[in-house]
Amino acid sequence: MVTAVEKHEVTKPVLINLGMVSLFFVSVSLVLGWFMGKWFNRRLIDPLLSLKEDVDRIVKGETSGSGTAPSYENNEIGFIAKQIYSLTERELYRRNQQLKTLNEELERISVTDKLTGLFNRHKMDDELEKAFYLWKRYNRPFCLLMVDIDNFKGVNDTYGHQVGDAVLREFAEILISSLRHSDVASRWGGEEFLILCPETRKHEALILAERIRSKVSERNFVANLKITVSVGVCEVKDHNTIDALLSEADNNLYKAKQLGKNKVVDS
Ligand code: GH3
Ligand code: MG
Ligand code: MG
Repeated sequence: MVTAVEKHEVTKPVLINLGMVSLFFVSVSLVLGWFMGKWFNRRLIDPLLSLKEDVDRIVKGETSGSGTAPSYENNEIGFIAKQIYSLTERELYRRNQQLKTLNEELERISVTDKLTGLFNRHKMDDELEKAFYLWKRYNRPFCLLMVDIDNFKGVNDTYGHQVGDAVLREFAEILISSLRHSDVASRWGGEEFLILCPETRKHEALILAERIRSKVSERNFVANLKITVSVGVCEVKDHNTIDALLSEADNNLYKAKQLGKNKVVDS
């Protein structure tokens, strides 16, 4: 038996089915593509953009990179971010250490007399203020020793400035070796030195001054030179100002010079 059918009656259902299947696959592909795009963005593009911004901020110095790194997922990008942060942190630490060392050196230079290595006048002014405050506030005693090298101009004139400098350095060594750790020695100017002895009464300061005077007079300095020093000693008491105290030490030094030098005088 033969049945005759129209051609379109056969092809139509096939085409419809084909169209439906294609539509299904296209729709599935679109949905899948949308989800994959989302996933790709979240996992790769967003972290990369965020990492780029972080690196940008570190380079511009808007953030140090120290502290906690922003959280990245535990993948290659997270690993790179962690490495960048740890490198930045290490570099920052290194630079901070460098800066700390430089600051300490600067601080040391700013309070030190270059020739003798003793404290300079500027630092001694601070120490005097501290001691004076402790005296006024808590009655903590202290003494001053104003020490001046005798006839030092003659040393320079006879042996030259360089020998004079060497004598000053040697004298500073004598001072350092004669003092307690709590004492403060400074080069007050030229060949004049000021020593501050905290928690010290006059009778103790006089012993120290005499020790310095005799050590110096017994020493053979550079070029076999003999030198002497004069010392003015005073203890803080009813002085109203640091200047008044310094004047007293100066006056005593002046008296020591008047008495023929190589002497210790107090008041
Ligand atoms: P006096 O016994 O009365 O103290 O006399 P003097 O000669 O020690 O005192 P004077 O004030 O007449 O001279 C001080 C000298 O100290 C003059 C100056 O050239 C010298 N002097 C000051 N500072 C330095 C220095 O840093 N190096 C050297 N070599 N000499 C210095
Ligand atoms: Mg002198
Ligand atoms: Mg002098």
